[in-house]
Amino acid sequence: KIAEKIIDGKAFAAGLRERVGAAVAKLNAEHGLTPGLAVVLVGEDPASQVYVRNKAKQTKEAGMASFEHRLPDTTSQEELLALVKQLNEDPSVHGILVQLPLPKQIDSAAVLDTIDPAKDVDGFHVINAGRLATGQDALVPCTPLGCLMLLKDRLGDLSGKHAVVLGRSNIVGKPMAQLLLGANCTVTIAHSRTKDLPAECRRADILVAAVGRPEMVRGDWIAPGATVIDVGINRIEGADGKNRLVGDVAFEEAVKVAGAITPVPGGVGPMTIACLLANTLTAACRAKGLPAPE
Ligand code: NDP
Repeated sequence: KIAEKIIDGKAFAAGLRERVGAAVAKLNAEHGLTPGLAVVLVGEDPASQVYVRNKAKQTKEAGMASFEHRLPDTTSQEELLALVKQLNEDPSVHGILVQLPLPKQIDSAAVLDTIDPAKDVDGFHVINAGRLATGQDALVPCTPLGCLMLLKDRLGDLSGKHAVVLGRSNIVGKPMAQLLLGANCTVTIAHSRTKDLPAECRRADILVAAVGRPEMVRGDWIAPGATVIDVGINRIEGADGKNRLVGDVAFEEAVKVAGAITPVPGGVGPMTIACLLANTLTAACRAKGLPAPE
């Protein structure tokens, strides 16, 4: 049945936010600690504004402190770096997130690498990428972390499964591959230079699509019974002329073949902010020398 195949990321994310909220309340009661997340938005990008608003709202709902910093799109790199350094020093801030993309005059890599790795709740700092790659405690990028949680929830032990990750960005594809490797999958990373993409995908027990190409993955790319995680968020014009969201996977075709699949919207998307809250909680616990909750 189709309904049983759908991985409900929205419901899982709501549960995760509740668990984070309960842990925050406990931390506050037992240690007088309120985790704090600072979000920095430079410029007026409409999608970024929506993300930042949602992040702030959900941060407060989880009982954490939310610090919003909105800067004009004329902000210089020095000004932004000065703010990041100030947040690095601020003991009430446990997590720092600089919303991407940044305006052209700013070097994103320089900004990300100025964030204190212990406060890098997006997990984009090279230190955290290196820790993840070498199997040490890291702050892990939120979107792939959310994908891994959904996979473990659905499949249990992932050992020995063949995972194919479509996309090799530093934000999604690469950390996703590292997490799956850490969970003992055999991992293939495919990208725009991969020779026979459909054939690679058909070998997957687990297929994670993070390419940013609307409905690129077709039903006949999927092995019967495979688990499909669709990270893509693409806005396309529907037959009625209205915009709608689709993933990187042709859902209607894929759901017939797959064993389980995340929908768009309502799959991976809601997991990202929930994992951001979980990372902020982890960072706050580590800052106090307390064990991070599971
Ligand atoms: P990037 O554009 O940074 O990376 C895309 C990757 O896909 C690249 O590695 C690229 O290969 C590969 N790719 C592009 N076109 C093809 C193709 N035709 N065939 C094979 N591989 C291809 O995107 P992101 O990783 O940042 O994001 C991917 C998708 O996930 C987007 O739709 C984005 O909106 C969504 N997203 C969703 C999030 C969420 O919260 N759910 C969070 C972050 C992203 P190459 O390296 O060779 O160029």
